[in-house]
Amino acid sequence: MRFLKRRSNVLIHRGARPRAAGPAIAALAFAFAVLAGRASAQTAGAPAIDGIRCDQMEGAVFHIHQHLTLLDHGKAVTIPSDVGRPLLGGCFYWLHTHTPDGLIHVESPAFRTFTLGQFFDVWGQPLGPTAAGPARFKKGALRVYVDGSRYTGDPRAIELNQHADIVLEAGPPYSKPVPFTDWQGQ
Ligand SMILES: [Zn+2]
Repeated sequence: MRFLKRRSNVLIHRGARPRAAGPAIAALAFAFAVLAGRASAQTAGAPAIDGIRCDQMEGAVFHIHQHLTLLDHGKAVTIPSDVGRPLLGGCFYWLHTHTPDGLIHVESPAFRTFTLGQFFDVWGQPLGPTAAGPARFKKGALRVYVDGSRYTGDPRAIELNQHADIVLEAGPPYSKPVPFTDWQGQ
């Protein structure tokens, strides 16, 4: 509002056809309203997943990171760099990636606990008894480590806490994971 007022003052001050200022300001106000609407509204074509919205701007209130390693029978699976950032939507889900190195970004407009299952849902990949992303394995063959310790609960329930170091070993051969430390200030 202040911005618009200042603009109108400038126009009048310059004497630049004050009569034309009315429609010009109305157009500006309209553009402003459209932009503001877009910033807060959920993006068409990118529906909420598990209650996680895809917003035009990255959530600034809550911003933490985790690391995910996925091994398909010992071979590293690349976590894509565009998880949660649909090209057509041009928006950011509150869980997303920016790089193909397994770094997960939680960037949300509110403090809230997110889970690994939700990350896989946003990714559009399964995480269940016989599948983890593109990896397939026999029931019971998924070994999970969180922060270097074996985790035997439901992997979907793993909380995405700050600097959680999550390793999914989908089928043998198994190996004790090397702790992830390369947060690069993230
Ligand atoms: Zn981030």
